[in-house]
Parts: sequence; C-alpha cells; structure tokens
Amino acid sequence: MAAYRALVGVTRCGDPNDFETVLEATGEVLDLIGGIRSIVSAGDIVLIKPNVGFKKNHLTGATTNINVVKALSTIIKGVGARKIIIAEGAIVGTSTRDTFQANGYYDIAGELGVELLDLKTAEMVAVPVPCGKAFHRLHVPRAILEADVVVNVPVMKTHDALPVTLGLKNMKGIIREQDKKRFHKWGLSQAIVDLNKVAYPDLTVLDGTIGMEGLGPAHGEPANLGVMLASTDTVAADAIGSLVMGIDPGEVEYIGLADAQGLGCGDPDEINVAGVPVSEVARKVKRHTLDFSDLIAKDIHVYESGSCSGCRHFMETFISNLERTGELGLLVGNTIVFGQTASMPQRGEIRGKLILVGRCVKDVAAAARSGQPAPEVIYIPGCPPHGQDVKAMLKPR
Ligand code: SF4
Repeated sequence: MAAYRALVGVTRCGDPNDFETVLEATGEVLDLIGGIRSIVSAGDIVLIKPNVGFKKNHLTGATTNINVVKALSTIIKGVGARKIIIAEGAIVGTSTRDTFQANGYYDIAGELGVELLDLKTAEMVAVPVPCGKAFHRLHVPRAILEADVVVNVPVMKTHDALPVTLGLKNMKGIIREQDKKRFHKWGLSQAIVDLNKVAYPDLTVLDGTIGMEGLGPAHGEPANLGVMLASTDTVAADAIGSLVMGIDPGEVEYIGLADAQGLGCGDPDEINVAGVPVSEVARKVKRHTLDFSDLIAKDIHVYESGSCSGCRHFMETFISNLERTGELGLLVGNTIVFGQTASMPQRGEIRGKLILVGRCVKDVAAAARSGQPAPEVIYIPGCPPHGQDVKAMLKPR
C-alpha cells in the first residue's frame, strides 16, 4: 500500500479585486485537493477564520483578501452548509469591530447571509492540550469546538519573529487576549504548535492573492504573489507556502515543531503538489529587516525582550511614522525598553532619556526613578500603549 503523502493545491489568481476571478481561483484550488464536498457536507456549521487582525484592508497585504472569504462562503453555501460563521479576534489592543469594519465585513455579512463573530467577546472553554509542551490547558472559543468544519484563511506574510506567518500561526487569532500576550513568554513557535493540537483546522486556504513582504505582519508592502494554496494538512500548506515565498521551511521553527509532534507533514519532499508547480510561482519576498537592535547604528538603544505583537506593532508604527515625518531625532541618543521580560539596563548602558514602553515595564520605570542619579524617565503606559500623543511626551520641555 502506498504511504500517505500530504497534498497541497497551488493555483494562480489574476486580479485580486475582481470577485469572479477570485471565485474561480478558489474553486480551482479546492478542486485540486478533492473539492469542497470532500470537506463540507450539507447541514454543516462552518467556521471561517480569516486574518482580520489589523485595521488595514487587504490591499495593504496585512489582512486576508475579503474576496477570498466571500468566494469561500459562496462555495460552502453552495454545498448546503447550515450556518457559516466568520470569526476573528484582532491583535492585542485593537478592537475586532474596527478591523471587521475596516475590511468591509459588515457590508458583506448580510449579502452572504453569514454571521460575524468577535472572538474577543465570544464564550471560551478551557480544554486540555494533549502532549502540550508550552502549556497543558488553553481557553478556546466554544464556536470553534462546536463547528463541524473549521476553515483557516490566512494571508501569506513575512513576520518579524517567525519569519513567515501562514496557517498554523493564523489560529492564534482565536485565543484570549491575555493568552496572546503569554504566547510570547511561553515561546511563540511551540505555543503555536500546542494551540493547533486543540484547534487544528479542517481546511487551510493560504491567501497569496496579494500578501505582504518586508516589514510584515503589519508594516510591509503588498507582495502581489498572485497565488492561492489549499490543503487539509496545514503543516504541509505552510511548508509549501513558505517555499512559494522563497523561504526555506526549515527556517520556520513552528513548521518543524509541528511536523515532529505529528500535526502534519512539513517536509516538502514528502508533499504532493497539485496544480501549478511551485517553481513557477515562487519568488524571494523581501524579508523583514527591522531588527530593533539594528537601531543602535542610528544611536537609538533598544532593550526589548519577550514583547508581544501589541507593543511590537506600536513600536514599529511609531518608528516608521517618525522616519516618514523626519522626526526620528526624537529617539536619537536615547534608550528604549519594552517587552514582558525586559529588565532595567545597567546604569552605564542608559544613554540619554530612558523611554519605557508599555505596562510590562512599569516596575522598571519605578526602579529607574528611584535610582541615583535618576535618568530622565518617560513612561508610556498602556497594554499596549494606545492613543497617547507620544511625540509630545518625547519633545524637550
Ligand atoms: S505591555 Fe506590551 S509587551 Fe507587555 S503584555 Fe502589554 S502589549 Fe505585551
């Protein structure tokens, strides 16, 4: 008997903004792996988990193309699904209502007859994590546990810490905000794998109709990959998706861990690819290059450790805005500290003002203020910081 090999469908997608084009590509990629009827049956409750984590629409490459979600909903409805739920929990510190709004989900929900579910306010259930390594128990939404089919629809993006975010990582959007923060302390890659042990999707469709390169997952450029991938093996989808982005899956720790712990196949040599050969659609995307420690070359001294996406997103946005407006000088010559496991730099290491970002470093702020001699301390509160006029806080008084 032939050994089981994972199967990943790969197809091209032309104009990402033309719904009919996207619908055709979505149907095609699903047919390559056996068709939607091999996954969804009439009467099923289907939960679709796109990436709508950011208040940015799909043209930026930061979020899943809403046309892909519309296409999937249309196809799934055609099979006779009883209910379709589109569910998301936005990144730490961001309202899912705002991200749904920014991406036009309220406009399509009525038209498609689908339900929108904000996972930040949804009922959560504590479940044991079999063979959990980062944790043994996790809260997941009841809606995920009760759905007959979970369809995972991430957007293919570069990532500052991973180096790509694809299917396994996209499931992080379902968990509680406090756990999203803890994932970074527990070890992000293993935590992602443990999460997928209790919430493994039935189908993953990687949206590379646009995607993001460079400073992903939020501040990069649209990658315009023009591709869609699908598999019932999310690990295999991620391995092939990574190759399509010109990144060796061996570099992506969560793919290797997921393979080793039996979640799926992460070895491209063991995966059958149906449809367009990877070599025809693959290209080397621009990698994420903003390493906070590189800012030392600009005389900005960053001490970051264990920060979650909320603070990283805040800092990346703030720094790129200052660069755009020519005001990076507000940070030059100073020391910045943030992150859940960040500690106070040695006194001799503190250059200029000590800028402390986020609630996690509140104690560092208190310690710094009581030091002798105390540096000038600017504490930017929040978890993550939000809404303050930080530029005004940094300007000389
Ligand atoms: S302050 Fe920042 S790093 Fe700390 S938990 Fe909040 S968002 Fe995460």
